[in-house]
Amino acid sequence: MSAESVWWQHRGHPPTQPADPDPGQAGPDETFDTVVVGAGVTGLTTALALVRAGRSVLVVEARHPGAVTTGRTTGKVSALQGTTLSSLTSQHGSGGRRRLEAYVESSLAALDWVAAFCEETGVPAQRRDAVTYAAAPEEVPTVRDEHEAAASLGLDVAWRGTPDLPVPAHAATVLADQLQLDPVALVLALLDRVRAGGGRLLTGRRVQRLRQRGEVVHVLGEDGLDVRGEHVVLATGTPVVDRRLHFARLTPQRSYLVAYRHPAPPEVMALSAGSPGRSWRGGEVDGSGLLLVGGEGHETGRGRRESTRVDRLRSWTAEHFPDAVELAAWSAQDYVSLDGLPLVGGLGSPTSRVSVATGYRKWGLTSGVAAGLALAGEQTGAPVPWARDLYTRAPRLRDLPAFLGVQAGVAAGEVGSLARGVRRPPSRAATEAGGCAALPVCTHLGGTLRWNDHEQTYDCPLHGSRFSADGEVLEGPATRSLARLPRRGGRHAGETT
Ligand SMILES: Cc1cc2nc3c(=O)[nH]c(=O)nc-3n(C[C@H](O)[C@H](O)[C@H](O)COP(=O)(O)OP(=O)(O)OC[C@H]3O[C@@H](n4cnc5c(N)ncnc54)[C@H](O)[C@@H]3O)c2cc1C
Repeated sequence: MSAESVWWQHRGHPPTQPADPDPGQAGPDETFDTVVVGAGVTGLTTALALVRAGRSVLVVEARHPGAVTTGRTTGKVSALQGTTLSSLTSQHGSGGRRRLEAYVESSLAALDWVAAFCEETGVPAQRRDAVTYAAAPEEVPTVRDEHEAAASLGLDVAWRGTPDLPVPAHAATVLADQLQLDPVALVLALLDRVRAGGGRLLTGRRVQRLRQRGEVVHVLGEDGLDVRGEHVVLATGTPVVDRRLHFARLTPQRSYLVAYRHPAPPEVMALSAGSPGRSWRGGEVDGSGLLLVGGEGHETGRGRRESTRVDRLRSWTAEHFPDAVELAAWSAQDYVSLDGLPLVGGLGSPTSRVSVATGYRKWGLTSGVAAGLALAGEQTGAPVPWARDLYTRAPRLRDLPAFLGVQAGVAAGEVGSLARGVRRPPSRAATEAGGCAALPVCTHLGGTLRWNDHEQTYDCPLHGSRFSADGEVLEGPATRSLARLPRRGGRHAGETT
């Protein structure tokens, strides 16, 4: 079964490099108003908002637009986000109330923006109820907390004591009129509009360094990449150039999705409140009913084998949706910040010309859009109303335990990898996948990589960098391929026979 998302699978995968010379390639001597690094939802929204404001923009993408998390999401655009609002409320207390209000405002603004964009460009998107439900009686208080947190932050949620759902449910909170869509259709339409507005795209070029010279930032990388911008936005999932050690304030969270053909897909977008949580929704692909089932989140490169997690989703689906026929199973990752809110703004000094946007805790189709609009608003002198209250980045003493928890998790991840002996030459599975040439030591900070038996990749338990079986960077903070093992007698050193 393909580990590619159903969104790419049914289109056929795009090439990493454009096949023909791209008419939109950057000229060598130009300084752009903004260089956006990364063509996911964040980068493309930022780019579009900037070109609409008359700015010159170059988007530099290491792989292809939508290659990483955005092209692998569930495609829900919603202000009700599982149990996010109640967990943020308990994390931030009453002192953080204005920040959480601003978070909800940003989600609603992003939802409106995406809805208007889809209508304008013809991207198919359906209005659906977003539902957070109790799959077991003991989850009811959690759902009640979410309902109260959402209502107190101004969302028009409805309580359902006996929800009408196709799976066992003991209570639910429901927010009507949210949106579901095909995220790759969104990416392609954003890209189309960026180009139509004069923005340019450079694909297949990985950025590795930034160098500031006066008011110009040089964006440097693979194959002699050297482009210039007055501003740079790192919309790379997690920052790949990191003067403020953002990676040490983020936890990479991987989770799994299985897509099925289904004769009568559900008409809601649902997320259960307990653990393990289940996220599911209906839809349509290639003219047939589509069911998406997700869950089994964990820190990247840590915990039980990846393939067993997919099997748990399959078992759950077989029990609750017996008519489902599997189409694709894949995984993706997103980043959770110490305080649970997006990390958006200048990297380094407050007057920095380099900005980052990350930490969406798996809700980047709203938070990434909001971040893009905010960053563009900041650069064009038209700030969005929620930005100042939401994106405060001063370190807080109360986040210290969370910071220490992240570092303890990093250390435990490394110890776990070493204990499993992953520093040994690659396993037979890796060898079969062509992985025998790569040394499984992360090029970011030297973490011991773990073989992911579902995706056939090397995953770093420290900060979430991931590499293909032959060592190419796939995602995460790493910017360089794995070192190659020397060949001995026609075989790679350590290759199993
Ligand atoms: C399983 C799963 C399901 C999800 N479902 C939903 C959902 O239903 N709704 C929702 O709102 N959110 C969802 N999310 C979260 C959402 O998908 C992400 O928050 C969002 O896609 C992040 O977008 P991004 O543009 O910041 O990052 P990405 O989409 O990862 O884009 C980053 C881009 O930067 C490029 N890049 C990275 N490094 C470099 C470099 N050095 N040089 C050049 N380019 C580089 C990458 O190749 C990539 O194309 C889900 C997340 C997961 C894991």
